[in-house]
Amino acid sequence: MSKSFNLSALVRSNILSLAPYSSARSEFSGSASVWLDANESPYNGPYNRYPDPLQKQVKERLSAIKGVDARRIFLGNGSDECIDLVYRVFCEPHTDNVVAISPSYGMYEVCADINAVAYRKVSLAADFDLDADALLAATDAHTKVIWICSPNNPTGNAFSAEAIEKVLSGFSGIVVVDEAYADFSSQPSMLTRLDVYPNLIVLQTFSKAWGSAGVRLGMAMASEEILSLFNKVKYPYNVNMLTQEYALRHIDRMPEVEQWINSILSERSRLIAALDALPQVVHIFASDANFVLVLVVDADGIYTHLQQQGIIVRNRNKVEKCLGCLRITVGTPEENNAVINGIKSYDIK
Ligand code: PMP
Repeated sequence: MSKSFNLSALVRSNILSLAPYSSARSEFSGSASVWLDANESPYNGPYNRYPDPLQKQVKERLSAIKGVDARRIFLGNGSDECIDLVYRVFCEPHTDNVVAISPSYGMYEVCADINAVAYRKVSLAADFDLDADALLAATDAHTKVIWICSPNNPTGNAFSAEAIEKVLSGFSGIVVVDEAYADFSSQPSMLTRLDVYPNLIVLQTFSKAWGSAGVRLGMAMASEEILSLFNKVKYPYNVNMLTQEYALRHIDRMPEVEQWINSILSERSRLIAALDALPQVVHIFASDANFVLVLVVDADGIYTHLQQQGIIVRNRNKVEKCLGCLRITVGTPEENNAVINGIKSYDIK
């Protein structure tokens, strides 16, 4: 259990007392033959109608896959929406702060800046491991949230359940564990710990292993109490009908998704072995994700060299603890061959 968790004490007072917008579709969602309640057009069905504001069908299907009660699933316009909602629900602008591992996914800090919330970075250890004590030591009475990304972007490593649980049990605020890349990891998901930790929010997404970044669908899984606050604050129809229809069809394709994951994992091993043999590569960090962080002899030079061949990787040369590194996404065998050959053809000065 987390120590002395009191949800109401963490929530911004204006959100606690907020009377949310009540949409036509949330006031009546049963069956009827004449719908004249929402000022929709009677033409161009089914897209003339507003979508289900709570995406019940999609959540029911996801519930079976994730092993999480549908009432503990929130869907957002990408997990980026969920990240922003965490700030809007819990963090008082100009007063509260959050603590996050560093380096990590850039949107945690951008959303903190947008919401005028102080962002406290705690550096990962030299081997990119999580220092639970250092994270806890960086909190104070105004710390509402701790951000952990596992597997972490851009370092690629996953953290042990033990270290994450030390943070969850040692902190009385919210702990967000962003599992965008969990399908590529051998570490267990924290979803099974939702019952144990009332302060846990797990983020997952359709954008990575599920191959659907273009449809913008992210998941936040947490207690019903936390998610009822998200539902109060979100835009009424935050997930459009096309995305909900797509999600239902896509969930039927999970065996194919499994094959994609297996191909990416075997290509990850092949990519690492091939890069490791190149003199342009100094070190490859262990990866639990669909990308590898690679220390090279000249990050800016190799980045530009690849770009000139139409191959785009992510230059992380200016990111804390990633100096000299490129982040390379695992692609198809052909794409991976292109990046291997591209790096191989760079002349070392
Ligand atoms: N979390 C992490 C760790 C990410 O790397 C990303 C995207 N790169 C996201 C969340 C955002 O995902 P989504 O497409 O679901 O908004």
